[in-house]
Amino acid sequence: MGVFWVKKVFDQVRAELKKQLESRDFERWIKPLELQSSTKNALTVQVPNIFFKTWINDNYDADLKRVLSEITGRNIELLYTIKKGGPASSFSRLNANYGLEPSAFSELNSGLNGKYTFSNFVVGGCNQLAHAASLALANRTASYNPLFIYGGSGLGKTHLLYAIGNMLLSQDSGHRVAFLSSEKFLNEMNEAISNESMSYFRQKYRNIDTLLVDDIHFIGGKERAQEEFLYTFNALYEADKRLAFTSDKIPKQIPGLEKRLRSRLEGGLFADIAPPDQETKINILSEKAKEKKIGLSEEAAAYVASHNESNIRVLEGLLARLKAFSDLKKEPITVKMAQRVLGQFLETEKKQITVDQILRLTAGFFNVKISDLKSGKKQRAVAAPRQVSMYLSRKLTSLSTIEIGQRIGGRDHSTVIHADKKVKGLLKQDRVFARILSELEQAVLSSVNKT
Ligand code: ADP
Ligand code: MG
Repeated sequence: MGVFWVKKVFDQVRAELKKQLESRDFERWIKPLELQSSTKNALTVQVPNIFFKTWINDNYDADLKRVLSEITGRNIELLYTIKKGGPASSFSRLNANYGLEPSAFSELNSGLNGKYTFSNFVVGGCNQLAHAASLALANRTASYNPLFIYGGSGLGKTHLLYAIGNMLLSQDSGHRVAFLSSEKFLNEMNEAISNESMSYFRQKYRNIDTLLVDDIHFIGGKERAQEEFLYTFNALYEADKRLAFTSDKIPKQIPGLEKRLRSRLEGGLFADIAPPDQETKINILSEKAKEKKIGLSEEAAAYVASHNESNIRVLEGLLARLKAFSDLKKEPITVKMAQRVLGQFLETEKKQITVDQILRLTAGFFNVKISDLKSGKKQRAVAAPRQVSMYLSRKLTSLSTIEIGQRIGGRDHSTVIHADKKVKGLLKQDRVFARILSELEQAVLSSVNKT
């Protein structure tokens, strides 16, 4: 391969990964890579230091190789080599004679995001224990150490960890809180190794009062980091300093977690956060809307919350979408508008709703029997709910009118069309009926979340 061509290929690989990776990851790990040399079947890439090399090997090697083979149509070997004599990083320059003055701690504390506090954390059945345990830690009344919070993505783990740090600082601004993601820990350690400033690094994390580490599961499989981390853990623990961790897995399930570290992490209190129920989702959305000064009715919040999604971050994204749309069109956020704007997200859910589900909820709602809805009875008390169930089936499932008719007592498709029209007519005339029906519709939508 010609040198020029190889360089072009490597630039393309980078451009492609820029699209595929989170920009933070790209900037940190892929951008610094430099092409060094090439042979017919291999590329050699320079990395800043040994830790970087391990990290790339563990996390990005497969991506790099995949993209490389997509671009060249061949299997090309990738080799990493450590760059010699690169400039000292900003870390060592900044911290060369840093000692452990108070400024060191303000740097530590600066990792905290003041936006996330206990006062804007909504408590529900799903997160009650984790909330109470965090609060006790922040109030320094906790008897356990460490606190280990675990749960799925977007359920509020980081929020709680920030809240602990913020509360500790608000009570005592001299309290030395270190908040860090395990990625940041790994990153700093990596720099410390390459800059031979390991003793500073150790000292920094061993002279604090409370250590909060976010996403500790990230450390799995990283041997050197675990070893280093274990020292820090032990030093703090023995000095009776407090530690709290978040993770998306319990220690036992973190792949490649060293046994000693695992038993340390398992030595305190476990508090899980479960996916939120409908009510908690509505409360959180309302809280977010209030914070961001977004006009959101409870009905519209209920509609957004009815999506089969427990990741609050994703729900917040839907809210942001509504807000953008509302600003653009100068239209208030209503259920109708939300249905229009978010309808595409609901599309997949439509398929999951069954006529049986609709019949069950409609029957319960109007206090009639499912068998009555399927029967030929003509009394209005039964006929009206039946028409409603047909209307909802048309709206919420992707079945044809023939299929819907079959499922509701074996009726003709024209009966379904007639019912649909009739209900739509009523909806236009009668606002009370419209409100009741929207309640039933929400109930059907949210029942999908629970199944
Ligand atoms: P995780 O760390 O579990 O992935 P985060 O703590 O980053 O999740 O939460 C994602 C978003 O959801 C944040 O904006 C957070 O404020 C919000 N959030 C999650 N749970 C709650 C809650 N109970 N009350 C208020 N906001 C919440
Ligand atoms: Mg998090």
